[in-house]
Amino acid sequence: MRLLIVEDEETLALNLKKILELKAFAVDWLADGEKAHTRILLYRNDYDVIIIDLGLSGMDGMTLTKSLRAEKITTPIIILTGRSETEHKVALLNAGADDYMVKPFSSAELIARISSVLRRPTEAQPVVRTVGDITIDTAAHRVTIRDAEIPLTLKEYSLLECFLRRPGEVFTREELSTQVWDFNAMTLSNVLDVHMKNLRKKLHNSGNSARFETVRGVGYRFVA
Ligand code: CA
Repeated sequence: MRLLIVEDEETLALNLKKILELKAFAVDWLADGEKAHTRILLYRNDYDVIIIDLGLSGMDGMTLTKSLRAEKITTPIIILTGRSETEHKVALLNAGADDYMVKPFSSAELIARISSVLRRPTEAQPVVRTVGDITIDTAAHRVTIRDAEIPLTLKEYSLLECFLRRPGEVFTREELSTQVWDFNAMTLSNVLDVHMKNLRKKLHNSGNSARFETVRGVGYRFVA
């Protein structure tokens, strides 16, 4: 899952980034509304959730949200706002936001809202999924094979979650990278191979017969 934070308060943005990364999200951060607009239009399918602060330089959060919806960007948007007037909340939802949070908020609340917008019908995915003898609990970030828990790092977990969403399909290296790493880390492509190697080893050592097939020049496929 990849997330974009558009927030001009650096301390808040970096805090959110850190907290969400611990929840296995890949997080990009931009401080400027105009830049965010450009980034989202260029990489429209890369983000699973976009978090937008209302008061931004360049383009404010409300204008940004309206403009993205006008461009047919359907990614869930959560707005961060300092205000709490009722009319204002209605205006945010009318502009195309899926949800809003009034500052200050707790990180637990933000994570709950993110989970909630991800569970909307267009993104409907069960929380616990079983593929072959691998069971993944995407709420608890827990992977088990025949009831034995497999200890995975956050990156390994994110990769496996990606494969288990569409077993049997080929994922390109770019797709895997955008799911798992933030924008700045995308150039380090050999990092992907290292994580894949470790993930393969862990599944193999646990006696799982599923395998990752390397599709030369393209990427990887998971076969249960
Ligand atoms: Ca602000």
